Amino acid sequence: MKKLFIIANWKSNKTIEETEKWLHDLSEGLNKENINLGDKKIIIAPSFISLEHANYCAKNLKFPVEFAAQDISAFDEGAYTGEINGRQIKELANYVIIGHSERRKYFGETDELIGQKVSIATRHDLAPIFCIQNENTPIPHGAEIVAYEPVFAIGSGHPDTPENAEEMSKSIKKELGDIPVLYGGSVVPENVKSFTSMPNIEGVLVGGASLDSHKFLEIIKNA
Ligand code: PEP
Repeated sequence: MKKLFIIANWKSNKTIEETEKWLHDLSEGLNKENINLGDKKIIIAPSFISLEHANYCAKNLKFPVEFAAQDISAFDEGAYTGEINGRQIKELANYVIIGHSERRKYFGETDELIGQKVSIATRHDLAPIFCIQNENTPIPHGAEIVAYEPVFAIGSGHPDTPENAEEMSKSIKKELGDIPVLYGGSVVPENVKSFTSMPNIEGVLVGGASLDSHKFLEIIKNA
């Protein structure tokens, strides 16, 4: 059976208290329904502000989730006001999302800056979950997981077809070898299986539907 990544990207949502409740509810749901995660790896990407407490809660709950940061500074430690650097992130997460279309659109991130972030992440032993928007998005050396996230599908309720996502994955693997490729964009409990059942798709990156722990539990179950 292939290993499946199921990643929650909370974006700029949830307080620390809400983070605690979400983790508690999800963990309780999994236990109550006696769900064995098996080959499903759950990765949560909360806001920076919640990362530390999320780690603490997961440990207390004995909940086998891993954490991702939603961003990383393109610089090492130093005089970069407002930035969170790789060494700091590594204390709290093993993964980092890089190249998301929202960061390109709202924060002006360029391919060059994004490439810098990937190289700094790998230097700090953080695995980049690298988002691509289409077949023309350059994938920098060091990307460890690729998430195909077409812009039209993000938050729109109109996902791409599983067949297109499968084709995209095949062409990425042709170029990069056997790298895990995920699909992201309007994934919900009702459609997750149509993506994860594709032979070359190793999981999903979930935005909106991950904010509700019950919906996310259904996504885990159905994947
Ligand atoms: C995302 O932005 O990474 C995403 C997949 O969002 P949504 O699931 O809300 O479409």
